[in-house]
Amino acid sequence: MERLDHFMARANAAYYADKNPFADFTTSPELCQAFGEVLGAWCAVVWQAMGQPEEFLLAEAGPGRGTLMADARRVLARVAPDCHAAARLHLIETSPRLRAIQAERLGDAVWHERIESLPDGPLILLANEFLDALPIRQFVRRGTGWVERYVAAGAFVERPSGSPGWNAAEGGVVEINEVAQAIVAQLAARLALQGGVALLIDYGTAVSTPGDSLQALFNGEPADPLAHVGAADITAHVDFAALALVARDQGAAVFGPVTQGKFLTALGLMPRAQALARTQAPRQASDIMATAQRITEPDRMGTLFKVLAVCHPDQPLPPGFAA
Ligand code: SAH
Repeated sequence: MERLDHFMARANAAYYADKNPFADFTTSPELCQAFGEVLGAWCAVVWQAMGQPEEFLLAEAGPGRGTLMADARRVLARVAPDCHAAARLHLIETSPRLRAIQAERLGDAVWHERIESLPDGPLILLANEFLDALPIRQFVRRGTGWVERYVAAGAFVERPSGSPGWNAAEGGVVEINEVAQAIVAQLAARLALQGGVALLIDYGTAVSTPGDSLQALFNGEPADPLAHVGAADITAHVDFAALALVARDQGAAVFGPVTQGKFLTALGLMPRAQALARTQAPRQASDIMATAQRITEPDRMGTLFKVLAVCHPDQPLPPGFAA
């Protein structure tokens, strides 16, 4: 018998080490070149607001195929060469397979197993669909008490537990992502001391909401999260309210969460996509516009996905977060 978070950590580590996750799911930077490009421009503005440090860590957690960072750095080199020259690339990635793809794509970078081993200094960190892969605990309200979910022989087992810290109706599920909270606390503490911004993009909720959000993709199709250990991608919704609280506790300033649609629109994603489309044949041009719409429209990825910025307390409002 294994607690759900231990099960999920083990299953996902095996999955990311052995499988090509992009055969099962796709992500905003893989869909849309303009996504990484507008984030590159965003980094340049944030770097200026940080006082243009001569050297800073440009980091990404869970860079996947390195597409976001490649698109961002290309734009940085063009529109903000000083910022591009000041950036030292650091990647947090546990999968040797994906590290090799990132090295091919991005060249010289320093790889880390964990956020804790990033060297000191001002930091701009990007993370897209990283937190959703981290392991959650699930608690279920039963009568006057709580049980916690464990996994045994491919099925859930409930064991009595203490309260998860907030409430749900009878039978309701409360999810806690301790690993994500620890990572955000660590990031917030160093940003508050050493300066910079972390931009966290993921699907999830702006307020802590009871509900079972555990899901899996096996061969690109929704599947039982317990059924295909190491062969399916297991994720859960990110509780941005919990992460914002943790970050503020460490003395960091927090902006958002705002919806991805609002954020990307404020950053000029659509005009950028239009400019890219104009250079292409009609078929490719319409694909470019369709994917830009897919990642911004409310009924697609635009509302489910949220964006949170965790910053040094003196950092001015980053682009994309104005009310
Ligand atoms: N950001 C990319 C990839 C998202 S997939 C994109 O948007 O396309 C999740 C990424 O996080 C993969 O690179 C995976 O290997 C990495 N990852 C998952 N769990 C991790 C962990 N505990 N520590 C570091 N990286 C992890």
